Amino acid sequence: MIDSVKYSILGEQEIEHNLLLPQHINPNKHSESLFERAKKKWKSNWRCYTLLIVVVLLLVATIVIPVVILSHRNKTDNLSYKCESYSKDIIDATMKGTLAYSRIATMCALFGNRLSGSTALENAINWVEQEMITDGLANVHKEPVNVTHWVRGNEYASIQSPYFKKLNILGLGGSINTTSQDGITGEVLVVTSFDDLTNNSALAVGKIVLFNVVFTDYGTTVQYRVNGPTAAAKAGAIACLVRSIAPYSLGNPHTGGTATTTIPAAAVTLEDADLMQGLQNLNQTIVVNLYMEAQTLPDKAVSHNVMGDVIGSDLPDEVVVVGGHIDSWDVGQGAMDDGGGVMVAWEAVRLIKALGIVPRRTIRVVAWTNEENGAAGGANYALLHANETFFSIETDGGVTQPYGIGVQGASDNTIKALSDLGEVLKGVGSDQVSVGEAGTDNYPLVAAGVPGGSLLTNMTQYFWYHHSEGDGVDKLDSVEMDKCVATLATWLICLANFNGALPQ
Ligand SMILES: [Zn+2]
Repeated sequence: MIDSVKYSILGEQEIEHNLLLPQHINPNKHSESLFERAKKKWKSNWRCYTLLIVVVLLLVATIVIPVVILSHRNKTDNLSYKCESYSKDIIDATMKGTLAYSRIATMCALFGNRLSGSTALENAINWVEQEMITDGLANVHKEPVNVTHWVRGNEYASIQSPYFKKLNILGLGGSINTTSQDGITGEVLVVTSFDDLTNNSALAVGKIVLFNVVFTDYGTTVQYRVNGPTAAAKAGAIACLVRSIAPYSLGNPHTGGTATTTIPAAAVTLEDADLMQGLQNLNQTIVVNLYMEAQTLPDKAVSHNVMGDVIGSDLPDEVVVVGGHIDSWDVGQGAMDDGGGVMVAWEAVRLIKALGIVPRRTIRVVAWTNEENGAAGGANYALLHANETFFSIETDGGVTQPYGIGVQGASDNTIKALSDLGEVLKGVGSDQVSVGEAGTDNYPLVAAGVPGGSLLTNMTQYFWYHHSEGDGVDKLDSVEMDKCVATLATWLICLANFNGALPQ
């Protein structure tokens, strides 16, 4: 054993030398320098190490790597049947391109923006229904939902003093109009917070209050759009302007819903809000004229949630849902918010069907209606379907590079199990699983006890376009949309094939 190792390490000639000529009669011994002897020794050790490294590498390649792969696969398969292999098929297919981008481009071109109560919204919903039937989805149908019917009408505003300047405005959804033909003309009081208004409430009486609050995060700043007009009315203001809820502006105002109030309310651009703040800081008297025809029509309009299924093989009555909201504000194209979300959700389900994957639970795509000014679509869906829903994912944060999913109210155990599954999405960059918001349309399901999550995406520029004329198809990227499709389709099949109940 030792000899054979020695043989292979030292090589034939040296062994011969060592075996036949004991060191004391080695003719070369005395002529060898210490340096040469050390060199020889090092050379022989080096060969030894090389062999050792080769043996270790062979062991790693033949035993360790397969064991690690198999144990990972077993871990994934133990959690969810064929989650990993289906995910690979899905990712491969999406890399060749999906229908998501062409469908959002088609829908936005044919129907434009889609506010609740509008014909455009119902036409878009009918188109989605017909296309879902063409895709071969099962149980494709619409469910009626009563929705608010607010219409904008004509609107404009301008600074009258200290000089004339046209203001780009968008009336806030739900606002009343300015009643008189000439609109409302009044002095402006700029405030920077609710506290600032409270501290100066005596100055607000009979004025147009402008909330100039710089965007920090959406949840914090949007409070001024939703509740600012009510606070201004309470302080005795005759109208309310709100700095658009956006971190960046190219002179575009952003609309959005506001709580019903007794005074008209509109959004101004970041630039104009800063201008009026500057004028007030310079002790200038600012006079603004505001004209709005907005009104909420007395009768509720009927809109629809539209949906289609891929029926499950083992548990067809348990449903994994994915969706977005088909309605939008009445500006731009509602491409980012949230036509794109509907398209990637729908495409994820269509792709599963097209790949011939049969899920264990039923998979459903839902395009919810009326998210923007009432959320009646999500509420109606939960009322009819909460009992059958196993998990629901909403995508309403843009269809940019996906990062993963955020799950509302998830325990550590749930996050751990989902994180193990999510690893299959590492290559797409969307393997993150965290505690997060489920989404407006999902809230009623979550409130009824259904686990719900939402697609996490790169939202760096999302609020640049949100609820504005800037929200067009030109802001979307087909490759990023395909990655959203890959992520959603993977989650759908891995949840539909989840073994047993989700850990609590
Ligand atoms: Zn939205």
